Amino acid sequence: MKLSVIKKLDTESLLSRTVRELPPSGIREFFDIVYSTPDCISLGVGEPDFITPWRISDAAIYSIKDGCTHYTPNRGLLELREIIAKQISNAHGVVYDPETEVIITMGVSQGLDLALRSIINAGDEVIIIEPCYVSYAANVKLLNGVPVVVATHFDNKFEIEIETLIKSITTKTKAILLNYPSNPTGRTINRETLSAIARLAIERNFIVISDEIYSALVYEGEHTSIASLPGMKERTIYLNGFSKSLAMTGWRLGYAAAPRNISDLMLKIHQYTALCAPSIAQYAVLDVLENSQGDIDRMKSEYLNRRNYIVNRFIEMGYPCQMPQGAFYVFPDISSSGLHSKDFALKLLKSERVAVVPGSAFGSTSENHIRCSFATSIENIKEAMRRIEHFSKKARK
Ligand code: PLP
Repeated sequence: MKLSVIKKLDTESLLSRTVRELPPSGIREFFDIVYSTPDCISLGVGEPDFITPWRISDAAIYSIKDGCTHYTPNRGLLELREIIAKQISNAHGVVYDPETEVIITMGVSQGLDLALRSIINAGDEVIIIEPCYVSYAANVKLLNGVPVVVATHFDNKFEIEIETLIKSITTKTKAILLNYPSNPTGRTINRETLSAIARLAIERNFIVISDEIYSALVYEGEHTSIASLPGMKERTIYLNGFSKSLAMTGWRLGYAAAPRNISDLMLKIHQYTALCAPSIAQYAVLDVLENSQGDIDRMKSEYLNRRNYIVNRFIEMGYPCQMPQGAFYVFPDISSSGLHSKDFALKLLKSERVAVVPGSAFGSTSENHIRCSFATSIENIKEAMRRIEHFSKKARK
């Protein structure tokens, strides 16, 4: 056939409607501007500013030298799964069989995707608690599931209201997706609320996907996992990883622990779509995980100092702010500036070269908030606060 007679292809109609209709991440659009702004201080990124502890990098280099550069078992290295199962058992008293109930994943991101894929049929509902991590609703929609939003509010310290939660449960509810401590609020979920959610999950028969990626960064009290409550191991998909606790975002390593019937389905998807998590990252962590608490504590104590500083500064500036109980984000209420979150963030970026994330990226109820990460040096934070104060004085005039 002559080229001239080949009909011009309409590739647009070949693309996935689900993906085309998905809105782009509210953060990415914003960060395109950040990257092109010179001398910008970013309180925007959700990753540790610390370099991965050297012992981990060193172990990775050795694993490359030793030729540990091939596929691992689909579930991940058994020795690593054994250590992880032991750590979960020590921390929460929940016993997972490393042979059949633990999968090493490419970060919590992949664990979350596997969890959702293993339970969602088109039209199923997944309850998400807003404000929340930007990927949750999108991940559910990508599977033609329906995210059902339960909003939490600043005035109520971002507590989940059980009465509101009950109203959101329907016959189509497959799961609730929890994240504690939370990105973006830093709020964790107390034992009483977890128990109430657990009772509902059992009575109304749904699964809990428990994203505990910030559990190593809790500043006050103990972290309780919902998986540890009576009857909950059977219906919880526990997700965690090394991105935040060990400053390993680029290594793409996490894990999912779930009862065998769920874990088997997650493994099937993992086998077909990923084969295994990166071998070098697995070997690196395997060598040091059992004595990494010192590294975690060192970073945590630095975050704690920064948290106290940044929260006090926002309050001094007249922006009410809850004290984050964990993670490395503050979520001040900026309504006294007279600006909505996106305007605030854009104007702040243009006039003072400070990047923060508009609250609207985390849900429609967060229009009056901005998210600031304190995973950056105290010098940067001090200078950013000085610039935000300058900006606020001008905005309020
Ligand atoms: N879950 C939450 C709540 C997060 O904040 C993030 C990253 O910011 C992730 C999951 C993704 O983590 P990972 O790097 O392990 O994929």
